[in-house]
Amino acid sequence: MMPGPRRPCHRLGGARTQAAPRPRRLESRHHPAAVRPMNDFASLARRDLRSVWHPCTQMKDHEWLPMIPIVRGQGVWLVDADGRRYLDAVSSWWVNLFGHCNPRISGAVSAQAARLEHVMLAGFTHEPAIELAERLVALAPPGLSRCFYADNGSSAIEVALKMSFHYWRNAGRTRKRRFLTLTNSYHGETLGALAVGHVELYREIYHPLLMDVLSVPSPDCYLREDGEDWESHSARMFEPMEQALARHAEELCAVIVEPLVQCAGGMRMYHPVYLAKLREACDRHGVHLIADEIAVGFGRTGTLFACEQAGITPDFLCLSKGLTGGYLPLSVVLTRETVYEAFYDEYATLRAFLHSHSYTGNPLACSAALATLDIFAGDDVIERNRALAAHLGRRCAELGELDHVAEVRQQGMIVAVELARDGDRRQPYDWRERRGLRVYRHGLGHEALLRPIGNVVYFMPPYVITPAEIDGLVATARDGIRAATCD
Ligand SMILES: *Cc1c(COP(=O)(O)O)cnc(C)c1O
Repeated sequence: MMPGPRRPCHRLGGARTQAAPRPRRLESRHHPAAVRPMNDFASLARRDLRSVWHPCTQMKDHEWLPMIPIVRGQGVWLVDADGRRYLDAVSSWWVNLFGHCNPRISGAVSAQAARLEHVMLAGFTHEPAIELAERLVALAPPGLSRCFYADNGSSAIEVALKMSFHYWRNAGRTRKRRFLTLTNSYHGETLGALAVGHVELYREIYHPLLMDVLSVPSPDCYLREDGEDWESHSARMFEPMEQALARHAEELCAVIVEPLVQCAGGMRMYHPVYLAKLREACDRHGVHLIADEIAVGFGRTGTLFACEQAGITPDFLCLSKGLTGGYLPLSVVLTRETVYEAFYDEYATLRAFLHSHSYTGNPLACSAALATLDIFAGDDVIERNRALAAHLGRRCAELGELDHVAEVRQQGMIVAVELARDGDRRQPYDWRERRGLRVYRHGLGHEALLRPIGNVVYFMPPYVITPAEIDGLVATARDGIRAATCD
C-alpha cells in the first residue's frame, strides 16, 4: 500500500493560486488557532509541494508519487507523519553511519551548541576544528598532513581542483590547467565539480558552461569481458590512462577518481590494482592525484579509506558525507606538506589560497565528526563491519538468481544489484521504463527506503543495521525486483 497525499498534487497546486492572500504575520498573532499550520501527513505533503523545490527531482513526478514527510528518526528507521516506518537502506544518500538520532553524536552536538555554535575560521580557530584535523591526519594514508575545511562535498572538490591548479602556478608551471577524469564518474553538482564528473544525465545540459576536461574509459568491472576477472580487467583498462598521461602530462594539473566505487554512476566497482598503477603513473608524469572519497570514505568499502586497499596516498583526499556521521554538512581536503608549502610566502607574492566558505569548519559539524570518530575507535567498527558485510553479501547473492538480475556486486558495506532485460550484462533496460522506481515504490509499501540509481538497486545501510534487518530488507528487495521486472 502506498502512503501519500489523498488528492492529486496538481489540484492542490491549482487551489493555491485561487486562495485568498495569507494573513500577515502581525494579524496572525491575534488569531493563532485560525492560521496554525496543519502537520498531519497530507497537510505536510501539501504544504511542501506549494513551497519546496526538491533536489534531483522532476517535481511533476509528485503528481502521482507521494511526498513523504518524515517526523522522526531512530537508528536505521525513519518514521513518517502517519507513523509508518522505513528502513533507511541508503543511509539518506550515503551520509548516515551510526543511525539516526545517535545518542552519542546528538549529545556531542548539543553540548557544542551550548558552548559555541560558530565562528569564522579566518583569524580564529576552535578546539573541535583543531582536534578533528589532528585526528584525520593521524587516520589518513601517510603523507597527508594538512586539512582545509569546506562545507559540502562539491565544495571540497572545487577546493582540490583550485589548489592543484594554483600549486602548479605557484611552481611556475603555468601550462598546467586541465584535469583528467574517468567516464561514469561523479564529483558533485557545482560547475567545477560537474565538469570533472561524467554522468551525462547530470552534465549534458550544462555542457556549454563547463571547463574542458579530458576523460578516459572507466575500469568499471561491469563492462569486463566474459571470463575476465576484476583484477585483469581493471589492469587492462589502465592502458588508456597511461596513454593520456603520457600525451597530456605537460598540460595536466591532476587526475581525479572515486576510489574503488563510482557511486552515483550506478555503484560501478573496480579493483585496487588500478589505483596502484595510477599512483605510480601520476608520480612518473608529474601530475597530482585527487581521491574523491566523499562517498566511499569512513568504512564504506571495508577499510576506513578506500585508498588503503591499494596502499596509496593521493595528493588530495576529499572527504564529506559520512564525516559527520550524517548529521551536518562539512567537508575537508587533506593534502601534503609540499602543497601547503607552495602557498606559504609573504602576502604580497599573492601565493595564498584565498578560498573560503561562510561555514568553513563549523564547530557543530566538527563536534559531530569527532563523536563519529570516537565511535569508530571505541566500537571497533571496521572489524565489526566485516561480519555484517559478509552477511549482507551472502543474502544478496541469492538475488543473483532472479531472472532479470545481471549482476550482484559488493565492496564492503556497499552491495549493488544491476537489473537488465534478460539478466544479461549487454541487455540493459531502457532508462525510460524506470524499473528502479518500481522497486522504490514497492519498498515504501514494505518499510524500506530503497532508492535505486536507474536500474541499479543497492544497499548502503547505516553500520548499526542488524543481520535480521538485513534479511528483511533483502526479502523486500527480492519481491520488489520480481514485481518490477515481471513484464
Ligand atoms: C555526493 C558526492 C559528491 C558531492 O557531495 P555534495 O555534498 O552532495 O556536494 C562528490 N563526490 C562524490 C563521490 C559523491 O558521492
